[in-house]
Amino acid sequence: MKGLDEVFHSLRLRIFFVVLLVGMIPALCIKVGIIKSYEEWAISARKIEIQSQCNSVSNQLLSENYLFHGNSDRIDAELSQLSNIYDGRIVIVDSALKIVEDTYDTDEGKTLITPEVIQCFQGHNTENYDENARYLEMTIPIINNVEGNGQEICGVMCANVSTDSIHSTIEQLTLKVDLLVMIFAVIVIVVAVVFSRSVTVPFKKMTDSIAEWGEEVDEKTIVKTMTEYSETHLIAESFARLLGKMKSVDKARQEFVSNVSHELKTPLTSMKVLADSLISMGDAPAEMYREFMTDMSEEIDRENKIINDLLSLVKLDKTEAKPVIQQMSINHVIELIMKRLKPIAQKRNIELVYESIRHVTADIDEVKFTLAISNLVENAIKYNKDNGWVHVMLNADHKDMYITIEDSGIGIPNDCIDDIFERFYRVDKSHSREIGGTGLGLAITKNAILMHHGTVKVTSKEGEGTTFVVRVPLNYIE
Ligand code: ADP
Repeated sequence: MKGLDEVFHSLRLRIFFVVLLVGMIPALCIKVGIIKSYEEWAISARKIEIQSQCNSVSNQLLSENYLFHGNSDRIDAELSQLSNIYDGRIVIVDSALKIVEDTYDTDEGKTLITPEVIQCFQGHNTENYDENARYLEMTIPIINNVEGNGQEICGVMCANVSTDSIHSTIEQLTLKVDLLVMIFAVIVIVVAVVFSRSVTVPFKKMTDSIAEWGEEVDEKTIVKTMTEYSETHLIAESFARLLGKMKSVDKARQEFVSNVSHELKTPLTSMKVLADSLISMGDAPAEMYREFMTDMSEEIDRENKIINDLLSLVKLDKTEAKPVIQQMSINHVIELIMKRLKPIAQKRNIELVYESIRHVTADIDEVKFTLAISNLVENAIKYNKDNGWVHVMLNADHKDMYITIEDSGIGIPNDCIDDIFERFYRVDKSHSREIGGTGLGLAITKNAILMHHGTVKVTSKEGEGTTFVVRVPLNYIE
């Protein structure tokens, strides 16, 4: 079954059959046409022949008054010669429907009443050709020209002749035409094989090339190897594009894995250093133990935070993980975020202000949306100056809501602004590390906002402050 399926799905075979059909169907139609037209021509020629022979005999019949006495050796001989030539029977009927002459000599003197004879007496010649029984039946009137009285049908000649000779010619003709068709079929098969092969060769070459290429093949090589046909060239171009995308995805994955390993290793290395120095010191004072243990505990917290952030990011990355969307009061969501972050701001005397221009309800995934906005407000506090301020504003139009997070912080250098949403990217690594950053916060924010079909925009001035604007549609469309 599988083999048969493969055969039907083979392009080469399909092309082969199409060429074969395109070649053979007209050839067979021509064959049937030739034989049919010959048959029609031969039958009509035979009819004309019989008609003219009978007409000439009927003239002689009239001149010798044969219909009345039915006795003329000359006519009898002529009629029997005629029936021999056409391998048939000729019957002559007079106006009383009595058979005057029958070349088979079986029905003379009998009455012949057939629809054809009656029709013929009414002035309509009849012809009946039976293809299967191979005979031709004709009735021809014997017309007497009566002076001054027009014409009168005084008898009918019924000719029943065999068409065997025509059919044997047709059989011979069929044999010859069949031979020609067979020669033509062989030519068509050869053409079909060559053509189907030549059309599919580029695809085979392509398959072979793909099988040969190693991982290091570059996009240019792929496109260069398949320039034979524009179709394969287009396939090669798409294939090269796909390969390019896969390579960049793979590169990003490798970078991510190496970043993750590095980030997870850093706290472990610090802990190892702290533990080793305590061991090597032998009798270290209790305060030193406490201090080192406190540092180790901070490193564990840091490791924990990186792992948690990574988990959040992975969850957001899973495309099949559907967001849990529900209609929520955004004012309420932001108020909760502000309440939770207030203590951190107070520690550095940073003023946290929330301004809501209008009440906004929207379709959101509460957990992911909260995470996204929290990260932005937390960053605004973290990268702020002591005694600074953070201003959060909520507004909306008929379609979207806008959340603006503005701070009086250290700002972001212009050349770094495009990279801040990258995973593990930090403008100042050591500063960010000091204040507990993992470099994943903005990546999480961006993914969560994208999940809501929204956008995040940032403007910043170094030393003066940063503004993030989040736009999210009020209605979530899947
Ligand atoms: P981190 O965990 O280091 O804060 P993020 O992804 O949240 O990581 O931010 C990436 C980097 O962008 C930060 O390290 C910081 O340098 C910069 N950044 C983010 N928000 C602000 C801000 N409001 N003001 C100044 N710099 C910021």
